Amino acid sequence: MDIIYSVVVPVFNEEQLIIKTYTELTRVMNLTNKHYEIIFINDGSIDKSENILSDICKKDKHIKLINFSRNFGHQIAITAGMDHAKGLAIIVIDADLQDPPIVMLDMIEKWKEGYMVVYGKREKRLGESLFKKFTAHFFYRFLNSQTNIDIPKDVGDFRLIDRTVLLELKRLPEHNRYVRGIISWLGFKQTCVPFVRNAREIGITKYPLRKMLKLAFDGIISFSTKPLKFATHIGIISFLGSFSYLLFLMYKKFFTTKYVSGYLFIIPVTLILNSVILMCLGIIGEYIARIYDEARNRPLYIIKDIINDD
Ligand code: UDP
Ligand code: MG
Repeated sequence: MDIIYSVVVPVFNEEQLIIKTYTELTRVMNLTNKHYEIIFINDGSIDKSENILSDICKKDKHIKLINFSRNFGHQIAITAGMDHAKGLAIIVIDADLQDPPIVMLDMIEKWKEGYMVVYGKREKRLGESLFKKFTAHFFYRFLNSQTNIDIPKDVGDFRLIDRTVLLELKRLPEHNRYVRGIISWLGFKQTCVPFVRNAREIGITKYPLRKMLKLAFDGIISFSTKPLKFATHIGIISFLGSFSYLLFLMYKKFFTTKYVSGYLFIIPVTLILNSVILMCLGIIGEYIARIYDEARNRPLYIIKDIINDD
């Protein structure tokens, strides 16, 4: 049996939604009249998600379940799912039905037209906080200004990729992954289908600010060295600034009769320079931390067990 479509679904504590997600995905996939598999990656959930998914697996052989040994994060979970996908077209979709499954059919249509990557573009985000909308909007634009490749804006991980793209993707075993960026970097014929991102029906976001910031940093740092240059630029500017200030003080002291009491300025000037140095060290540190991650070369994830894998 040749599998045509693989649907990859990362799951982290989604017990309230998982059955509905399964039903909805199955309904849509059956409309394609082709062989398919749905791969759930249980990213170390601590609720009943694992039990519920195991039960589903017993009844339905289309469903595969990869259980991680612990929580490795969303980007790693979708990577594991894609690594195990057997289909000719692979679709990544969130477990919380914020990405409407029916849009998968539009993606498949585009794929049949010959596109290798079809991403879902969020025309609208319903039910998300103003803060999330604002930061997301700002982030996608900032990311584009900082990187040399064109990463599409307002695009999440809801997308279809062809098997050819998947094989190339597997050759990039980066640890601090920003999957959408990597896929843009790969090239190939890409297109988008617009959709309205629904509000999460039940439960809360599994992306707290901390995880969002990590993803944002990974996006910027793995696709750009501009922040490093920013450190150099700010260093040069502050050097020129303080040097001119010194010249100015010397001029005042030696060529004018005015009394110069500079000591009051020492405190702010020192503080500013120190913060600039700290900031630059921080930027360098972010890169070094990632170099360290790559150098250790640990596996991206550890699988506890896989159910219905053949
Ligand atoms: N998720 C995951 N591991 C994590 C966090 C999230 O696998 O550490 C999954 C989660 O179950 C969901 C998807 O990733 O299917 C997106 O998460 P969420 O809906 O919480 O993010 P948001 O839509 O708020 O950006
Ligand atoms: Mg969500």
